[in-house]
Amino acid sequence: MRFEFATATRIVFGVGTVREVVPAAREMGRRALVVIGRSPQRAAALVAGLEAAGVACYRFAVAGEPTLELVRQGVELARQEQCDLVIGFGGGSAIDAGKAMAALLTNPGDLMDYLEVIGKGESLSVAAAPFIAVPTTAGTGAEVTRNAVLASPEHRVKVSLRSPRMLARLAVVDPELTFDLPPTITAHTGLDALTQVIEPYVSNRANPLTDGFCAEGIQRVSRALRRAYYAGHDAEARTDMSLASLFGGLALANAGLGVVHGFAAPLGGMFPAPHGAVCAALLPHGMEVNIRTLRARAPESESLRRFQKVARLLTGQPSAAAEDGVQWVREICQELNIPPLGSYGIREADVPVLVERASQASSMKGNPIVLTAEELGEVLTRAL
Ligand SMILES: [Zn+2]
Repeated sequence: MRFEFATATRIVFGVGTVREVVPAAREMGRRALVVIGRSPQRAAALVAGLEAAGVACYRFAVAGEPTLELVRQGVELARQEQCDLVIGFGGGSAIDAGKAMAALLTNPGDLMDYLEVIGKGESLSVAAAPFIAVPTTAGTGAEVTRNAVLASPEHRVKVSLRSPRMLARLAVVDPELTFDLPPTITAHTGLDALTQVIEPYVSNRANPLTDGFCAEGIQRVSRALRRAYYAGHDAEARTDMSLASLFGGLALANAGLGVVHGFAAPLGGMFPAPHGAVCAALLPHGMEVNIRTLRARAPESESLRRFQKVARLLTGQPSAAAEDGVQWVREICQELNIPPLGSYGIREADVPVLVERASQASSMKGNPIVLTAEELGEVLTRAL
C-alpha cells in the first residue's frame, strides 16, 4: 500500500466560523481580490469587516461557471490593484475562479500555458498568492481541491487548471451560509456531494484515509439531504451536508472520481446544465451499469464489495445488496425533482461524441472498471 494525501493548509469548520475570515485574512495580506458569486450582497458583511480591519477589497463577480476570459479579467484587476491575497466566497464557480486567479496572479505567462487538454499543460512554477476559500453551498468541496474547472466556450469544453500549488491556504466552512439556499440548489449541490463521496469510495485509487471520509459522508447525506431540502434552516442537516461536501472534496482530490464525473465535464462544456444537476441525473445509472459490469467481468472484485457497503450506509440496512443503493439514489432523485438530461437539450444524437469525450476525461481514470463505449452510451442514454 502506498498513498499520498494533500489538502488545504488549514480547515476551519462550524456554524459562525465565517467571522474568523477577517483576522486570518489580515495576516495574509492587505489588498484582497474578493471573488463572489451571483449574489454580491451575501458577501457585504465580510467585505465590510475586511475593510474595517484595514484590508482593502476589490470585488469581482462570477455570475455563472467560470470561463478562461473571466479568469484573465480577474487576474488583470488583481494586478492593477496590486492585490496580495485572493478570497473566494460563493459556490464552486466563485471558489474555482478565485483559485485560478490566485495561481495566475503570481505565475508568469498566459492561462493557456498551464491548462490541460487545450493548453500546454505546463506546471505552475511559483506558489500561488494566498487563497482563502469560503463556500456558500454544500456540494463541490472546491475549498479543498487542487483544480479549477474552467469553461472554454470557443472549444465547447470544460478543462482543469490543476496543481498542488493551488490548494487553499485556509478553507472556512460555515454551514450557516447555506441555510437560505433554495430547495433546487440544495438538491443539485447535495447530490453532487453524494456523488463525490461515492465515486472516490469505489475508485481504483481509493485509500484508507479517503475511505473514512467517504463512509462518513455517505451516512451524513443519507440522513440529512431530505431534511435540508424541506427545511433549509435545520442546522443539524445543513451541518451534515456541509461536512459531506468537505469530505467529498478531501476524497476526490486524493482518490479520483469515476464515470459520472467523466461525463459531467464534457456535458458541462457542451450544454448549459448545472454541474450538480448533471451528476444527480447520471448517478443512479452510473452506479447500476458499474455494478452489473463488475458482476459480469470481475465478480470477486473489492469494488463490488464496496458498492454493497455504499448500499448499507445509504439504506441503514445491514443486509442490503449493492443494487439497493441504486434504488435508494433513484428514489431520492425522484423525490427531489431531478430533471432528466434531455431537459437541457441533450439528445440521443449527442451520445457518440459525449461517450468519446468522456472516455478520455481525467475523472474516468478512477472508475472501478473500464467501461466499453456501449456501456458508457447506456449510462448516458438512460439519463436522457
Ligand atoms: Zn461534482
